[in-house]
Amino acid sequence: MDHLVTATAAEGTVRIRAAITTTLVAEARNRHDCSPTASAALGRLMTAAALMGHGFKGERRIALQVAGNGPLRNVVAEAFEHDGGVGVRGYALHPDVDLPLAHNGKFDVGGAVGRGVLQVTRTLDNGMPYTGIVELTSGEIGDDIAGYFANSEQTPSIVALGVLASPKGILAAGGIIAELMPGAGERTIAELERAAAALPPVTTLVRAGADAPRLVGAVAGEMDPKMLRELPVRFACRCSREKVEVAIRSLGSTALAEMIRERRPQTVVCDYCRQVYELTPREIAALASS
Ligand SMILES: [Zn+2]
Repeated sequence: MDHLVTATAAEGTVRIRAAITTTLVAEARNRHDCSPTASAALGRLMTAAALMGHGFKGERRIALQVAGNGPLRNVVAEAFEHDGGVGVRGYALHPDVDLPLAHNGKFDVGGAVGRGVLQVTRTLDNGMPYTGIVELTSGEIGDDIAGYFANSEQTPSIVALGVLASPKGILAAGGIIAELMPGAGERTIAELERAAAALPPVTTLVRAGADAPRLVGAVAGEMDPKMLRELPVRFACRCSREKVEVAIRSLGSTALAEMIRERRPQTVVCDYCRQVYELTPREIAALASS
């Protein structure tokens, strides 16, 4: 089952989060009918959201949005507390976009995303949003998240995100984020750099059966890692019939009257999860009079 662990290492001077997200990415791929390239882009961003969305006190949710000039255009992922674990949802604007593999044999996510920006919005429990925007480094998502940590949060970090997809489905997905905390010594910095250079692709570890603590060990094995928490990670959406009804009602009485007069049912599809909501003219009339 998909899960996430938070950990510290080197006496608290390194913070590490790691997650297995194979089932999460498979569900997103199925719901949005994503091509392998789009699955890789969306899966990496959703994995990053799961990893970044946990561990901040007083935070309600985190939203990551990649907006590029490549054929995928926009990729969005959100993570939030859900049912005692981490809920994640997301979508790619053009999930059918597929590119040939890059020369290194990997998905050409950077080519599909192009140049643009990464926007990170943290919404606090009091409803206040805080947004940071950085230019995309490569469009490969992992590099871009590391760029965000460096520029926006002044934290040197190692970000490894991986999705192994075939035309038939998702074979493995997961990620690791390790951040240097204030007070990290030269030796710790050198050890982390060495571990990052020697780190195999995350998907190789996941495919070989690694769980999230093993991913932590792969990057911090020499730095005395301590696991703090383990949480389930699931695909989840925040849409509901009630929210759709509020949106329809907000179109105004003239628009509602027209729908009722034309006896036109309304179909609303959630961008994030593709759930279809249908309202009959009778239901719309009830909304109009409530
Ligand atoms: Zn939804």
